[in-house]
Amino acid sequence: MIRTDKCPDCGSLNIGKGYWSGYAVLSPVGKLFSMGSKVTVRVCKECGYLFDLRAEKPEKF
Ligand SMILES: [Zn+2]
Repeated sequence: MIRTDKCPDCGSLNIGKGYWSGYAVLSPVGKLFSMGSKVTVRVCKECGYLFDLRAEKPEKF
């Protein structure tokens, strides 16, 4: 799979990477007591577009 650091919206190469955590932790359905997974996300520093959302621990689902 080809990973790109180019904004799919405006085409900017000025991309940052962040974690979605806290209230936005993604939890598996029906597993209320598990910790869930942090989500990594790429942010375009030009237009603010969020893309490439990815669960850090997809095996939990
Ligand atoms: Zn952009």
